[in-house]
Amino acid sequence: MLIDNHNRKINYLRLAVTDRCNLRCNYCMPESGIDFSKKDTLFTLEELSRLSSILVSQGIDKIRITGGEPFVRKDLMVLIRNLSNMKGLKDISITTNATLIGPYITELKALGIKNINVSMDAINRETFKKITRRDEYNIVYDNIIRMINEGFNVRINFIALTGQNTQDILPMLALAKNYNVCVRYLEEMPFNGGSRHFEGNTWDYKRILSHIKEAYPDYEEIPSEATSTSMNYKIPGFKGTFGIIPSFSRTFCGSCNRLRITATGDVITCLYAQPSMNIREILRGESSEEKVKQQILKAIGNRAKTGFEAQKLQKGTYTNSMTTIGG
Ligand code: SAM
Ligand code: SF4
Repeated sequence: MLIDNHNRKINYLRLAVTDRCNLRCNYCMPESGIDFSKKDTLFTLEELSRLSSILVSQGIDKIRITGGEPFVRKDLMVLIRNLSNMKGLKDISITTNATLIGPYITELKALGIKNINVSMDAINRETFKKITRRDEYNIVYDNIIRMINEGFNVRINFIALTGQNTQDILPMLALAKNYNVCVRYLEEMPFNGGSRHFEGNTWDYKRILSHIKEAYPDYEEIPSEATSTSMNYKIPGFKGTFGIIPSFSRTFCGSCNRLRITATGDVITCLYAQPSMNIREILRGESSEEKVKQQILKAIGNRAKTGFEAQKLQKGTYTNSMTTIGG
């Protein structure tokens, strides 16, 4: 079992399988993209499977595949098939923009994948196009509805972006009214790869919630897992639910059970921290299993207590992008 230096159990790995993406969300990266990693610095699918297996043997029982856009890796299903056969791994989930997932939905269901998070920051084509700089709204919407109808537990991540999409906060709830889906509202964070100057957050979780309360005063809070980053709510008569994630306000650090590993092997123990080390060459070297385990124990034994503490240790401003960190 992995226990950090603040006595938190770490059982959840967020594994970025690529830093590349077919969209250019303006809160995530510049229009020209970021300086993407060279191919030989990215883990192969075989390496990602091996790394996952080592971490599962140390006590990780939930893995979320993220990126970049995971499905830009054409062989991604090889990894997912391997993970679905891994003893001790109880939950495999995916975070995706849902543009490329269509051909894989049937197999994902057959492999027992249940939890899919989809980023969708608008409920109309024009706003979606402005934010993502690509015209893919219809395919994303159709894939979301298809996955809901296939019985996946779909959660939609909507970042409240001042001056861009807050007029869609209430219309987004139509999805939760008509479908068994959770619409989650997130605060924007300063990881945009330098695409915009981050001024702080004018739409924080309190403002989002009070905006929803004006339209739906009778919503009720529903229980969430102790390690959940979202506070969750139900509006009477709605098939689905909604949630709020205070990603910038960071009210959830006390129960954080997460470890992040990027597609090039950076080990990140807090979203707001610099990578604590790089595991790639260690995994590629001799006696790798034992050495990887030691390095993971070392990183987990040296975690910041909160995102604010980690932020203090950061030198300078944030230049990194969520497409590298994986969210
Ligand atoms: N491409 C996939 C997607 O968009 O769902 C997975 C990777 S994406 C980097 C993971 C998550 O990070 C998404 O939910 C996205 O909305 C979130 N994200 C990216 N940049 C962000 C920012 N500046 N603030 C808050 N969340 C951000
Ligand atoms: Fe791509 Fe996801 Fe970043 Fe949007 S948020 S640019 S879909 S990695």
